[in-house]
Amino acid sequence: QKSTVVITGASSGVGLQAAKALAQTGQWHVVMACRDLAKTEQAAQTVGIPQDSYTIIHLDLASLDSVRQFVQDFRSTGKSLDALVCNAAIYMPLIKEPLWSVDGYELSVATNHLGHFLLCNLMLEDLKKSSASEPRLVILGTVTHNPKELGGKIPPRPDLGNLQGFEAGFKAPHTMIDGKKFEPVKAYKDSKVCNVLTMKELHRRYHESTGITFSSLYPGCVATTALFRDHYPLFQKLFPLFQKYITGGYVSEEDAGKRVAEVVADPAYNESGMYWSWGNRQKKDRKSFVQEVSNEASDDDKAKRLWELSAKLVGLA
Ligand code: NDP
Repeated sequence: QKSTVVITGASSGVGLQAAKALAQTGQWHVVMACRDLAKTEQAAQTVGIPQDSYTIIHLDLASLDSVRQFVQDFRSTGKSLDALVCNAAIYMPLIKEPLWSVDGYELSVATNHLGHFLLCNLMLEDLKKSSASEPRLVILGTVTHNPKELGGKIPPRPDLGNLQGFEAGFKAPHTMIDGKKFEPVKAYKDSKVCNVLTMKELHRRYHESTGITFSSLYPGCVATTALFRDHYPLFQKLFPLFQKYITGGYVSEEDAGKRVAEVVADPAYNESGMYWSWGNRQKKDRKSFVQEVSNEASDDDKAKRLWELSAKLVGLA
């Protein structure tokens, strides 16, 4: 009997390669949770994920109704849930005006954080029922969340402030978590800080009582993925070269996917509350280590408050 893993945003980039890596072990059935079914089917075939090792179920993280529907649809497959990977994200560095989710929240925080926050809360019930010896919930992080590391020093830096925007209900005219002016790059970084804080709070609340392992990782700079599709064309051309030859941070989509797969399935990663990294300069056969997260992402009070406010925004409280 195979274990089942749900991966959000498995239609491209890191998520697609993680799906492939897990399916190829022969031990995992992958549920690809994606907003574009035809694209996902095409992607699965193109990278050669074995036909009988995946199921595609619709999920649009920018709609809370869609998240709830996804959970119902997953449950009706009768599969047990043994791991959940929150991987999907959008990054729109060039937009001048905010875009909005179905529920009226700024789109990048809605997609990257709020949609996943609801999904994690609902699917916790499924993970609790897993008969796997090591059920896991993994949320993708990024170096840009962390001003302590070089990759995180480039402005604008993330800053959730005192969560004023969330306190105010996070609907227009509020677009940023700290209640300040709209800044799309910062919105992305803020959402990734939320991802790490959510992982930490899940660990604090539920690890002991459930035995589920909660973790995050920075897979390296995967400069070629569609994450950068909304950037200047010249940036898209130069960024991979810059990362390859200047910073040394470049990681292929395939290797990044394998790293995610390790954090999901390898016994070495069965430690809860951890944020894994392979460092910023890539070397062959580089080993992973537990990376310290940013001050903000390790602030327990902020994690608790973010949890309470997010629960309200997604209709759980
Ligand atoms: P991609 O853009 O290649 O993949 C993002 C995935 O998210 C796609 O499958 C996309 O679907 C999906 N997605 C976007 N919006 C939604 C939505 N509303 N509902 C459901 N799915 C959605 O990016 P990456 O593979 O690079 O990024 C994956 C993760 O890795 C992200 O969490 C990112 O923050 C993280 N990361 C990436 C780094 C990098 O250098 N690339 C570095 C560090 C972390 P669709 O195909 O339909 O657009």
